[in-house]
Amino acid sequence: MDPQISARKRIAVIPGDGIGREVVPQALKAIQASGAKVEFSEFDWGADRYLRDGVTVPRDGFAMLARDFDAIFAGAFGDPRVKTNIHAKEILLGMRFQMDLYANVRPVRLLDAALCPLKGVEPKDVDFVVIRENTEGVYTDAGGVFKQGTADEVAIQEDINTRKGVERIIRFAFEYCERHKKLDGSPRQRVLMCDKSNAMTHAGGLWQRVFKEVAAEFPQIATQHMYVDALCMQMVHDPRPFDVIVTNNMFGDIITDLAAGLQGGLGMAASGNIHPGKTSMFEPVHGSAPPIAGKNVANPFGAILTAAMMLGHLGLTHEAEKIDAAVLEAVRQNKTTQDVGGTLGTREAGESVATFVAGRH
Ligand code: ATP
Repeated sequence: MDPQISARKRIAVIPGDGIGREVVPQALKAIQASGAKVEFSEFDWGADRYLRDGVTVPRDGFAMLARDFDAIFAGAFGDPRVKTNIHAKEILLGMRFQMDLYANVRPVRLLDAALCPLKGVEPKDVDFVVIRENTEGVYTDAGGVFKQGTADEVAIQEDINTRKGVERIIRFAFEYCERHKKLDGSPRQRVLMCDKSNAMTHAGGLWQRVFKEVAAEFPQIATQHMYVDALCMQMVHDPRPFDVIVTNNMFGDIITDLAAGLQGGLGMAASGNIHPGKTSMFEPVHGSAPPIAGKNVANPFGAILTAAMMLGHLGLTHEAEKIDAAVLEAVRQNKTTQDVGGTLGTREAGESVATFVAGRH
């Protein structure tokens, strides 16, 4: 085989539904402009395919992704025509659960003061990362309904927390803190564990014990604990003290939407679903956003920043930095979509980033 070809990173691309199909092409354009040695294979998994032939994930689909690709780049899943949302569940939660992508890494960075709704906050004040447990909690769909439709109906939603699951996500957070720097180049120094152990005593107790045990292996890293309600208040009061936050699946889901608000909204937020050493999946934090889909108004920057995150994960650091810098440039020059104060459409905003990327060496 041509060594040039074999050196290329193989990326499975699954645009999915709604605005996923609009923002993903812009992210791919930025990757191509960066000169990254990658090859893309696109998959049509999503609502259209499901409505056509009833297939959500083809047989052995996840095994194929794990075997044949270095990373997966996904858009968004969800379509009003599929009332049960079964395809989104099977594709997105399927990748997270069946490929055991246990760490959902969501960096929260403010690129420009104008994007933040808080007064007097500068970009250096918002630079933290949320590490969300991605394979357990209330998302396992454990539980049931008893006496449905009667006045005595009972609904039980179980919150699953295993020793193995809690330990590996907490260790991931400490290792992340050890290995990653802040945007200004200074080291990350603190891991904060967020829970609701005053009310959810059984699960919270496990998280508390494991956090103390794992923290002892990293004496150079400071630790902190906050209840999730207090953390939400702190996040909008003063986000500066946050560094690395580790939390469960549901709290991670909620606090990263809040955190996205600090960055300029859901259109600006990136994420990775990671299992170290295995094929990992990268997707913007936002969903398919049906109300704005197909109108060329969705902000592609969350997806483009996600692409940079994926390249960084694959060791293509220089290319990742070029894309990050190009998005920053586009924001500074207000070459953005309406949700963050600009006038451009999805394609035009993506084009401006690709042009900035191509101009960097
Ligand atoms: P999910 O159920 O996966 O959270 P959703 O479709 O209910 O998906 P999102 O897609 O996350 O929710 O978006 C909620 C709203 O936020 C959208 O309707 C839209 O107004 C806004 N939004 C989300 N992403 C973007 C984006 N990329 N650009 C502009 N606005 C966005």
